[in-house]
Amino acid sequence: MLKNDQLDAWDRDAFFHPSTHLAQHARGESPTRIVERAQGVYIEDRDGNRLLDAFAGLYCVNAGYGRQEIADAISAQARELAYYHSYVGHGTEASITLARMILDRAPGHMSKVYFGLGGSDANETNIKLVWYYNNILGRPEKKKVISRWRGYHGSGLMTGSLTGLELFHKKFDLPLEQVVHTTAPYFYRRNDLEQSEAEFAAHCAEDLEALIAREGADTIAAFIGEPVLGTGGIVPPPEGYWRAIQAVLKKHDILLIADEVVTGFGRLGSMFGSDHYGIEPDLITIAKGLTSAYAPLSGSIVSEKMWEVLEKGTDENGPIGHGWTYSAHPIGAAAGVANLRLLDALGLVANAGETGAYLNRAMADALADHPHVGDVRGEGMLCAVEFVKDRDSRTFFDPADKIGARVAASLLEQDKVIARAMPQGDILGFAPPFCLSRQEADTVVAATARAVRMIL
Ligand code: PLP
Repeated sequence: MLKNDQLDAWDRDAFFHPSTHLAQHARGESPTRIVERAQGVYIEDRDGNRLLDAFAGLYCVNAGYGRQEIADAISAQARELAYYHSYVGHGTEASITLARMILDRAPGHMSKVYFGLGGSDANETNIKLVWYYNNILGRPEKKKVISRWRGYHGSGLMTGSLTGLELFHKKFDLPLEQVVHTTAPYFYRRNDLEQSEAEFAAHCAEDLEALIAREGADTIAAFIGEPVLGTGGIVPPPEGYWRAIQAVLKKHDILLIADEVVTGFGRLGSMFGSDHYGIEPDLITIAKGLTSAYAPLSGSIVSEKMWEVLEKGTDENGPIGHGWTYSAHPIGAAAGVANLRLLDALGLVANAGETGAYLNRAMADALADHPHVGDVRGEGMLCAVEFVKDRDSRTFFDPADKIGARVAASLLEQDKVIARAMPQGDILGFAPPFCLSRQEADTVVAATARAVRMIL
């Protein structure tokens, strides 16, 4: 086994880490954590730390770590058939079974699954399908896509543009001109404090209507949104939001893409966020929870309405010119089948709902009186704590104070609990594996209360 300092040196010499302050890392100011093994909700590193991962990796290890059933399925698939492509009608038992299992769980009007590798490429696929669809329908001008400020949809060219977070645009010359952003459904940060949730939801729909009027409805192809804003701050929508938004989209014949990369397969306590909020999407993006991150796999679930047009398109134009070498990779598909079976067998989606509600209640109770905790919010196994300089006047901290990051660092160092300082604002995010027990939820809450009191 290689020694830690050897790995540390190679890491700095050779490894370009994503979403990392490169200069600080090169100078050794941010440590390299070498993760070795994991079980349940805990990961272990080379230095002997056992950490409670209250963010499930990047909210993706939904079934929890160390699941033998999924590892066995991957291993059996690799031995039998590690790879074959899925172009021109090829498939494997695992990929075909998984497509069936996904549709059996998806909202009723969905028709087919296109497989990719990760959430970003699945969203790129969805945008291409939207454009193809409108071209086949003879409306080549209807191409722009609306996303929300604070939405996160990936790091590709188009998906980075759709992402409504400054960090992901800065110095990359994004966003692309086909993308327009609208108001984030972020009740706590609304401008007009007199507005109720319902009034704020109506206000978001009015902003959308005004944007469509400005751009011209005949130029707008689709609207993309996460059922609950994730990376933008873990923000459940205000009451009535999705109903109001869908009414506007229907009126202007604009397709709806539900980006369920985080919410798909149970994180809200329902199989899909679309079921949870009564969303009727034309496309659904899935990734992370599809395999609980045991292997990279994503998908675009296509509605019956769109499928009909796509089929017609290929009769007119020949095979659809869109494919990845690793679409429906057999190892990813085998992981997906085993993962979905495990979620069912262990009732993990119900646990995400129940233990998630317990975690959210306990967190809100523990921090209720703290003068610098402005909001505790969540849904299912998603929870966020937002810090403010002054609670009554809702004055926020200077970002340079890095309050969220300091609380997260204290939690990690002192309590060995992993939470995520969300990239914008002073928000601490929690998204544990679905197998979190109430006792583990208590540990997370007690540690958070301690860390918040220490830093603030
Ligand atoms: N969409 C959402 C809602 C996400 O949260 C993410 C990743 O966090 C993505 C898309 C991109 O997925 P990936 O990182 O697998 O490309």
